[in-house]
Amino acid sequence: MTSTRSGTLLVGHRDVVALLPMADCIGAMADALATLARGGALLPLRQVVRLPGGPNAFALMPAALDAPPALGAKVITVFPANDRTPYDSHQGVVLLFDTEFGRLLAILDASTITALRTAAVSAVATRLLSRPESSTLALLGAGVQAATHLEAMRIVRPIDEVRVWSRSRTRAEEFATRAVTGGARIVVAPTARAAVEGADVICTVTSSREPVLLGEWLSPGVHVNAVGASLATARELDNAAIARARFFADRRESTLNEAGDFLVPKREGLIADDHIVGEIGELLLDPPRVVGRRSAEEVTVFKSLGLAIEDVAAAHRIYARAVETGAGTWVELGGLRDAHA
Ligand code: NDP
Repeated sequence: MTSTRSGTLLVGHRDVVALLPMADCIGAMADALATLARGGALLPLRQVVRLPGGPNAFALMPAALDAPPALGAKVITVFPANDRTPYDSHQGVVLLFDTEFGRLLAILDASTITALRTAAVSAVATRLLSRPESSTLALLGAGVQAATHLEAMRIVRPIDEVRVWSRSRTRAEEFATRAVTGGARIVVAPTARAAVEGADVICTVTSSREPVLLGEWLSPGVHVNAVGASLATARELDNAAIARARFFADRRESTLNEAGDFLVPKREGLIADDHIVGEIGELLLDPPRVVGRRSAEEVTVFKSLGLAIEDVAAAHRIYARAVETGAGTWVELGGLRDAHA
C-alpha cells in the first residue's frame, strides 16, 4: 500500500472495532490466506522471546503481501495470567508501512486486531470445512476469543444453539449472560464433554497447555477450530482428535514448527507430516489445490496458529477505511528531512 497522506495514523481499540466489522474482516482474511497460498506473501516464522519464570512471551511477527500490497509487523506480549486482571492477555501494536517509500503509515491496537482476525480466520475455515447446515456451536473457553468466535461463527453458519464451557463455571456463566447471540439459545455446559457431544462446530479457545478436547467425544461430521495453543509444547486436542480428523493448517511451515496439537501426536508416531491435508488458503484458490470435506461424516480440524499476514492485512483494511472516514489521530514521524530542506 502507498498513501499520499503525510503523517502516521494512530488507531485505538474503538476505531479498530468501528472500522473492521467482522464480516469485512472475514473477507480480508480470505484474501490474505489465498495470497499466501499462491506464493504472494513473505512470512518468516515469528520470533518468540519466552520470558523467564512463567508462561509469558514477547513476539515479533513481520510479513509482506502483494495483494493487498501491505508490509508490516505485529509486536505483541502474551501474558496468559492477565485473564484475572483488567488487561487483555495479548497486547501490543500492529505497524503498517507503505510499500513505495517504506513510510510508517499506521500504528494500530494489536489486542483488538488479534481478537477479530483470529475469529475471522476460523470463520473462513468453518465456511470451507463445516457442514453448511451446522447449527450447534460449542465454545471451550470463555475469554476474548470466545466472544469474537461466537460473532464470527454466527456470520458463516446458521447457529441456533451455543454451548459454552470454561474451566471456571462462573466465567462461563458471565460469558453466557453478556454474549450477543442474535437469538441463538446459549447454555453453560457442566463439562467440556457435555459441551461438544453432538455439536456441529467446536472452537477451542482456552489458554490450556493440556488437552481439553478428546477425540472420543467428537460426533461424526463435526468441524473443530483449534485456536488456543500456539507453542510446540502446548495443545488443546488429544492424539485421538488429531489422528481421526482430516487436518488443515493456516500454514504448513508454522504447524510443523509451532503446533503442539500436531507435533505431540507426530512425536508419538501416530501421524506424519502428510497428515496435513492442506492450508486453508489452498481451498480458496481457483481451482482449489486440495480437497476439503469429503463427506457429511468426516471430522475436520483447522489448526490456527495465527499468522502475521492476517494482522498486516487487517491493518491495511483499517487504514484505508480510516483515511476515508477521518478516524484515528495523526502524528508526525519519519525524521528531519523536511526540517533540513
Ligand atoms: P483469555 O485470557 O481471554 O481467556 C482464556 C480462557 O482460557 C478462559 O476461558 C480460561 O478459563 C481458559 N483457561 C486458561 N487456562 C486454562 C487451563 N489451564 N485449562 C483450561 N482452560 C484454561 O484468552 P483469549 O481468549 O485472548 O485467548 C485464548 C487462547 O487463544 C490463548 O491461549 C491465546 O494465546 C490463543 N490465541 C490464539 C490465536 C491464534 O491466532 N491462533 C490468537 C490469539 C489468541 P477460566 O477463566 O474459566 O479459567
